[in-house]
Amino acid sequence: MAEFTMNKGANGVAVITWDLPGKSMNVLTLQGAQELEACVDDALSDDAVKGIVITSGKDSFAGGMDLNVLGGMKEAGAQGVFDGTMSLHTMLRKIERAGMDPKTNKGGKPIAAAVTGTAMGIGLELPLSTHRIFVANNPKAKLGLPEIQVGIFPGAGGTTRLVRMLGVMNASPFLLQAKMSSPEQAVKAGIAHEVSDDPVAAASEWVLSATDADILKPWDAKGYKVPGGAPYHPAGFQTFVGANAMIMANTWGAFPAPKAMLSAVYEGLQVPFDTALKIEARWFTSVIMNPSSSAMIRSLFLNKEALEKGAVRPEGVPDQRVKKVGVMGAGMMGAGIALVSAQAGIEVVLIDQKQEAADKGKAYSEAYLDKGIARKKGTPEKKAEVLGRITATTDYNALSDADLIIEAVFEDPGVKAEVTKNVEAVVPEDCIFASNTSTLPITDLAKASSRPEQFIGIHFFSPVERMLLVEIIKGAQTGDRAVAKALDYVRQIRKTPIVVNDARFFYANRCIIPYINEGIRMVGEGIEPSLIDNAARLLGFPVGPLQLVDETSIDLGVKIAKATKAAMGDAYPAEAEATDKVALALFEEGRLGRKSNAGFYDYDDKGKRTGFWPGLAQKYPVKDEQPDVTEVKHRLMMAQVLEAVRALEEGVLMDIREGDVGAILGWGFAPWTGGPLSWLDMIGAAKAVEVCDDLTERFGPRFTTPDMLRDMAAKGDSFYGRFGANTKAA
Ligand code: NAD
Repeated sequence: MAEFTMNKGANGVAVITWDLPGKSMNVLTLQGAQELEACVDDALSDDAVKGIVITSGKDSFAGGMDLNVLGGMKEAGAQGVFDGTMSLHTMLRKIERAGMDPKTNKGGKPIAAAVTGTAMGIGLELPLSTHRIFVANNPKAKLGLPEIQVGIFPGAGGTTRLVRMLGVMNASPFLLQAKMSSPEQAVKAGIAHEVSDDPVAAASEWVLSATDADILKPWDAKGYKVPGGAPYHPAGFQTFVGANAMIMANTWGAFPAPKAMLSAVYEGLQVPFDTALKIEARWFTSVIMNPSSSAMIRSLFLNKEALEKGAVRPEGVPDQRVKKVGVMGAGMMGAGIALVSAQAGIEVVLIDQKQEAADKGKAYSEAYLDKGIARKKGTPEKKAEVLGRITATTDYNALSDADLIIEAVFEDPGVKAEVTKNVEAVVPEDCIFASNTSTLPITDLAKASSRPEQFIGIHFFSPVERMLLVEIIKGAQTGDRAVAKALDYVRQIRKTPIVVNDARFFYANRCIIPYINEGIRMVGEGIEPSLIDNAARLLGFPVGPLQLVDETSIDLGVKIAKATKAAMGDAYPAEAEATDKVALALFEEGRLGRKSNAGFYDYDDKGKRTGFWPGLAQKYPVKDEQPDVTEVKHRLMMAQVLEAVRALEEGVLMDIREGDVGAILGWGFAPWTGGPLSWLDMIGAAKAVEVCDDLTERFGPRFTTPDMLRDMAAKGDSFYGRFGANTKAA
């Protein structure tokens, strides 16, 4: 069945409709691109056609490129990617030139895009190549170029066209930050032209009346100057200095795509348009051939989506969507959980020990929604609707028809056990009970339950409304229905789930704690603190370990270390003492991190970091001889990556996709790598073993190479090679 069809009207307008069979949203396939080109060729050569409208048969326009096309091009190597990209450029350029005489720029046929709804990636780059963009009056539609978020950049002319349309400065939020716009915002920003209730009719009318001048792109006309100035113009020059600095400040050079895109823009603006497209294609090819882009697309697009769609949901369990959730404890976490649940349309009973505490928890939602209204992201009606779903009370009887309970009371097994018993006395028999504990084993907590197969961990990250990951923990007796319930709930609140088996610190905290500890430990060794945090930034982490521990609070770290030591007894690793000593010293000084405006960093009275605490250097003098940054990077990286491998080895992680997606969304693991297991595949198991063996010898057994990794190195295996094929598709 055709993906593009053309209908030539008696009025002289040929309407080309994109309607990919069997999909709710269009994506551009190889076949689609050929069909589109054939339609355009036909319409341009048919004298009866006066103008062309390109639209979609769906209520959205298009979601982007079919990623299989990129995969296919990549298989043919760099030349294959370049040639494939150039053939797209040729087709889109044909639309843009529309049969015009190359010398006189006259005689072309007007071509307009009638964008029926959301248009992303190539779904927007195609309209950008037409002469006028009409967008349906649908405030929910989103227009934008999200490529940078998955490690590539708009490579079908979007980069080259947008900077020539808007200037480098105005194009940068769309290109570098993947800014999405509603139709109205798109028109205001100049990436679309008109909002219309009937975009096909409006576009048809326009193509019939457009003149030669209307369809000539500014960059094809004589005397074109890029808005804001080209690179060698005084103003343009400054823009590039700023843009370079901004990219470095945001990426620390760790992400290949933004740098490549800026190079394409900088070089492209100094040559004619067609040459600029070739330059764009070259830089695009370099990014596609970089392993980072494949890993990012795999984790942040394909696998993230697969997990959200229920790739690991137990089979055969009927729909478990939540109607009413009871949230126990209206503190920091409970308040956030109530908010995101109510926003998803779920009825919420928010319970605390005192009515004031429950009300305070609900007030958190109110304040959040008020902020949204002030930022024009919400309305008073929406606020009333969401707040109307939250009942703040101390009365357990309000839970009598709840189908899910999420407990977020104090991190104390005794308190949690009592709450579990009291709740089970009032809720329906089939109600699922979840704990949001961050450290207590689910299997132990389930002992307080009379229905342990209905007991599960649903571990949110803080702040709940911002963090995208939810870790679901299966206790030893947790049944499939509880897992399905947790997954269906996470889908309702539009977050990404991973499902792991029960073990100390589950998955995310298990990996992040050694990262923080390694950083703290290095301070004790006399390594320059700025070298530690900067090495982490250079690896692509959003925050270094010392900044991170200040954010999460040093007393929490000390508390966790003490509890772990008590729980592990003699098994507590001796090498952990070196870290504990430094953390304890800060704790005893009352330097608890950001919350006390004093930690590894100093802060001003507005809470802004002003630099490392000078007292740190007195307590832990900086050694004259500092390690090479690569060594610091290796220590920080391996500290967490090895935990991911051990979690897989021990069966805590059941699916490598979850290990990678969970790491990026849960603790900001350097996104350019695609996750810890993808990163190991990138450097190769043999190299990883070499690094670990060296670190073990010099720094201790915490870097001991896991058997699985050593075995992979011996057999020339990789994680995705060994486990990737077994993962179930969504
Ligand atoms: P919090 O101290 O802010 O809130 C706990 C709330 O529970 C308080 O309002 C308290 O009054 C209430 N409470 C205590 N006993 C109760 C009872 N018997 N019945 C009803 N309410 C009761 O703590 P928090 O930071 O929100 O953490 C709550 C849970 O979430 C803990 O298990 C914690 O480990 C976990 N968690 C915390 C974070 C985090 O970053 N803070 C992250 C993930 C998980």
